[in-house]
Amino acid sequence: MNPFYNPAILCVYCILHQGNENTFGYRLNLAWKRIRNNRIAIAVSALAYMAVGAFIYYNTLVLNDYASAEEMEDIVAKYEKSFKKYENLAQPRFRSLDFSIDLRPEDRSFKAKITSWAINRSGTPIRELHFTMPLVPDSVKITIPNAKLILDSDELYYRIYALDKPLAANDSVMINVEVSKATQGFENSVSFTEVTQNGSFFNNTDLMPTLGYNSNFEMSDKKMREKHKLPKREIIAKLDNKNVKARMNSYLSNDSDWVQVNTVISTSGDQTAIAPGSLVRSWKKRGRNYFNYKLDHQSVNFYSFTSAKFEVARTKWKGIDLEVYFDKKHAYNVANMLNSMKKSLEYYTTHFGPYPHKQARIIEFPRYSSFAQAFPGTIPFSEGIGFILDLSDPTAHDIDQVFYVVAHEMAHQYWAHQVVGANMQGSELLSEGFAQYSALMVMEKEYGKDKMKKFLEYEMDRYLGGRSQETDEEQPLMKTQGQQYIHYNKASVVMYYLKEMIGQEKVDEALKNLLLRYGYKNAPYPTSIDAVNEFRNVTPPELQYVITDMFENITVFSNKVEKTSYKKVGSVYEVTFTTVSEKFRADGLGNETAIPINNYIDIAVFAEPENGNTLGKVLAYKRIKVTKKGNTYTLFTSEKPYSSGIDPYNYLIDRRPDDNIRLQD
Ligand SMILES: [Zn+2]
Repeated sequence: MNPFYNPAILCVYCILHQGNENTFGYRLNLAWKRIRNNRIAIAVSALAYMAVGAFIYYNTLVLNDYASAEEMEDIVAKYEKSFKKYENLAQPRFRSLDFSIDLRPEDRSFKAKITSWAINRSGTPIRELHFTMPLVPDSVKITIPNAKLILDSDELYYRIYALDKPLAANDSVMINVEVSKATQGFENSVSFTEVTQNGSFFNNTDLMPTLGYNSNFEMSDKKMREKHKLPKREIIAKLDNKNVKARMNSYLSNDSDWVQVNTVISTSGDQTAIAPGSLVRSWKKRGRNYFNYKLDHQSVNFYSFTSAKFEVARTKWKGIDLEVYFDKKHAYNVANMLNSMKKSLEYYTTHFGPYPHKQARIIEFPRYSSFAQAFPGTIPFSEGIGFILDLSDPTAHDIDQVFYVVAHEMAHQYWAHQVVGANMQGSELLSEGFAQYSALMVMEKEYGKDKMKKFLEYEMDRYLGGRSQETDEEQPLMKTQGQQYIHYNKASVVMYYLKEMIGQEKVDEALKNLLLRYGYKNAPYPTSIDAVNEFRNVTPPELQYVITDMFENITVFSNKVEKTSYKKVGSVYEVTFTTVSEKFRADGLGNETAIPINNYIDIAVFAEPENGNTLGKVLAYKRIKVTKKGNTYTLFTSEKPYSSGIDPYNYLIDRRPDDNIRLQD
């Protein structure tokens, strides 16, 4: 388990159903990954040393120095001990960044110059600029007019510059950064897989220092904190709308709100480089390719740069360029991706609001990692989960995974890139949870309700499995704190249930209202309380309990059909079945207490399933209020009944979802 809580992950949904936490994101995590790789490499190079001697030693240990995992732990602990005192020091916020990047894929190196402007929104004069440095570059040069370096801790990646004249409130300061990275000799392990010969994918945080002390880099693991004599800390700020300090940052950035980005990026003559925004122009110079991109709309300060030998598939949807950049050997799923982008935009622009960019791009990257991730207008997508396998026949699979992942990532253009949660518990409901719901709606339109049942069964399994393996405390959905089984899997089930109870139009109306209120707005950022309030506003009084049960508490049901039989009465069938319904509240440790049930639950009778579907045609369906544990129901059908069920589509979180339907006795 990674010791650093990493809130920067926008999407790590793993198609192989492993849901691996990936370590892509913040610099220290990247370093951590590198060091873990090196541990293995150290063993290998020791053996190799005996075989081929000093040459290996020179390359792995002299040219490419590294820190051990223990050393890295020390750095993180010392960073906190030395600089946490600056946590509340007012710092300016980045508002525009101009990148000039020269990428050399052939020798896995780059140079970049960044001209950025940061504005003082603190209301008080700022005398010092503090930076947490990026780990990736070999060298970082910062130039600030009329400022001098007064602290430079290479070891702890921290610098302080004193301004000759304080930066007044609402004034901006120019910060120039030059970075370079060269891969020398051969390494003990590949140190930075984000820049490769064909398929580079790195992001702005790999290049740029962040402003100020960054508490996201602190160790969150309790035992590790004890070992380093660090005081106890919460994993993340508790959900509390009155905690305005925590709400001044979104969970994606602690040094910026919405930024303008312009990029000139060059790469080798046979590659295409991509940066956020519209392509303004491209040209060739001395055998190298140059591209100038500019964001059409200000965005979260979190975006990527990519370069490879790409084929491009293009289409247009209502004036928006849809593009897939892929390796020409990997065209299998490209048409499906374009279709999902279109269907997603159709749903999201109809129900949520306008799409803010002039393009949407999916960009293949090598399978050093297996995830897809949404940046403004661009979606880097691992070849491992979307390109190298032919997934074009969704009937052969339960779910059209490619279609689903694209719909989920497209939804992040709204959920995370327009509405982004404050840096406290629950923020991932607003990004991952709502992206799941959005993708479910697009999928349901494309593939129908039966496929959704399969998908939701999987989500329920993952949630129930996740909570049984929780080593800390399960949180209610609106307080999720980096818990994927909650903000992906439980969120899917709960949002779908809410939609079934109050209607899709109402859920979409609430989400649209949230977007109108908080989309692209500066701090204080919204919390899951704001989102849940929007749901409450559109939910009738008799169904408010759904929100109390599913968002604010951990509520588990147990619904079961005990027996079912039918007899023919004239021209119809009379179906009688007995059910057991129980409701429990769980605490964070999994202790469950039975509470009275008073819920609307569906009962139904089905015909025999056809075409491999899990359920047959609905012969009778009724939503009833269940107020006690044991019940007997009678429904009439005109066709021969095959099975009876209570909560047959598993809308409710159920201890045992598979006993809700019973074949006729
Ligand atoms: Zn996501």
